[in-house]
Amino acid sequence: MAGAAAVVEGVYPRTVGRSYTLRTYGCQMNVHDSERMAGLLEAAGYARSDDPATADVVVLNTCAVRENADNKLYGNLGHLRPRKVANPGMQIAVGGCLAQKDRETIVRRAPWVDVVFGTHNVGALPVLLERARHNAAAQVEILEALEVFPSTLPARRESAYAGWVSISVGCNNTCTFCIVPSLRGTERDRRPGDVLAEVEALAAEGVLEVTLLGQNVNSYGVEFGDRGAFAKLLRACGDVPGLERVRFTSPHPRDFTSDVIAAMAQTPNVCPQLHMPLQSGSDRVLKAMRRSYRSARFLAILDEVRASIPDAAISTDIIVGFPGETDDDFAATLDVVAEARFASAFTFQYSPRPGTPAAAADQLPKAVVQERYERLVALQEEISWQQNRAQEGHTVEVLVATGEGRKDAATRRMSGRARDGRLVHFTPGERTVRPGDVVTVAVTYGAPHHLVADGPPLTHRRTRAGDAHAAGTRPGGPSTGLGLPGFGAPGPEPAVAGCAVGSGAVGSGAVGSGEGAR
Ligand code: SF4
Repeated sequence: MAGAAAVVEGVYPRTVGRSYTLRTYGCQMNVHDSERMAGLLEAAGYARSDDPATADVVVLNTCAVRENADNKLYGNLGHLRPRKVANPGMQIAVGGCLAQKDRETIVRRAPWVDVVFGTHNVGALPVLLERARHNAAAQVEILEALEVFPSTLPARRESAYAGWVSISVGCNNTCTFCIVPSLRGTERDRRPGDVLAEVEALAAEGVLEVTLLGQNVNSYGVEFGDRGAFAKLLRACGDVPGLERVRFTSPHPRDFTSDVIAAMAQTPNVCPQLHMPLQSGSDRVLKAMRRSYRSARFLAILDEVRASIPDAAISTDIIVGFPGETDDDFAATLDVVAEARFASAFTFQYSPRPGTPAAAADQLPKAVVQERYERLVALQEEISWQQNRAQEGHTVEVLVATGEGRKDAATRRMSGRARDGRLVHFTPGERTVRPGDVVTVAVTYGAPHHLVADGPPLTHRRTRAGDAHAAGTRPGGPSTGLGLPGFGAPGPEPAVAGCAVGSGAVGSGAVGSGEGAR
């Protein structure tokens, strides 16, 4: 492994006249990391390519938790090879979790790759590209631990109205199906003051919605000795001028505490939405997964959330067919799903992740898993549909988005998310509504996966985010603390005292309003 490339405060090698394109696979962590990679490349002088097929640099930000992830990576690299042969000056960089896992193997199997970098050294990308060009040799650099919190790097934000803000990276849990801890490392918490400064900077640029991001947001603060830090952070977000919506992903039932529920209920801009990964309704399977809560505790949390936030839309992740899952175990999952009444669920058929403990266990026959999966999906589909039908006639506030409705052009609708996270397709009629604007609409139809509002909007608020989207501008510039290590114990201030983010199973289907399909 080469030595760590230095990321000097705000200084990157200048590479003018070259274009780049980025392909992102996997979870929200990767999506946000890609915003950092794009920001770094643009800070270094690269321009985003209008035509990905002719870009000078292709960056693949990979995911290791999807089925056959490595086969897909080498398939993609194989497709890029003829371009590289025809244009040797073109560069290919592979980053993300699969790069962290496979390291030198990538350049051994695909020697036309120029750069391999991991999850802990995203900031090295421009330096490594430059070094690979200068030395005319592949550069592989993987660090074992985070040196610079990615949030300290420049970002090219994708959205003018909604932004991701990392509060932590890594995970201290050891779920037996998940490869995240070995690839993202143990949890590192960002200082509350730095998180808040980034939230404030986004809101000051007109961003209306922020999603706080961590593998397990409920353990935020453990690293610097404040178990109440996440609830305090939510409350502090409530005081950020202009910030209308705060979401977070993902909580962990083990660490979910009443102070967080109180903070959600009492902070008006925290949305009435909770994504709480169940994974299994069987206590025996939860134990085998090394998930330390039990189904009764999980349901008790939901009861407490609903007592404080009656309109909360609660979604979940469930794995079907974990090794050793019996008919009785699966029946227990169906029972919990029936009782929990999730608004939506991401359902996964278990498949082994190399390097995880569960991968070594005897696997269930595919036909058994498939049959259980279909029964679970049918049950959740019915529950989701009932809940969405109950929304008919209700007025909902929608933050208008782009890319949420595949059929919008044909139906002349626009789409966005209600405060509780439900996907809403609405008819703007004669109004000029822009992504980033806020409308209120009356729901006319509740479908299993979305709501429809076919009357004209009841209200339409033009926002600065809508202006920025229309103008093509995005929140930009480096975020707070550029060049300074931003994790660890908080400094003398601060103003405030997932685990589905890449959770590790596949064969997924979203059941309920969380999915964009129609
Ligand atoms: S599933 Fe979530 S909590 Fe469990 S190890 Fe993976 S990231 Fe951590």
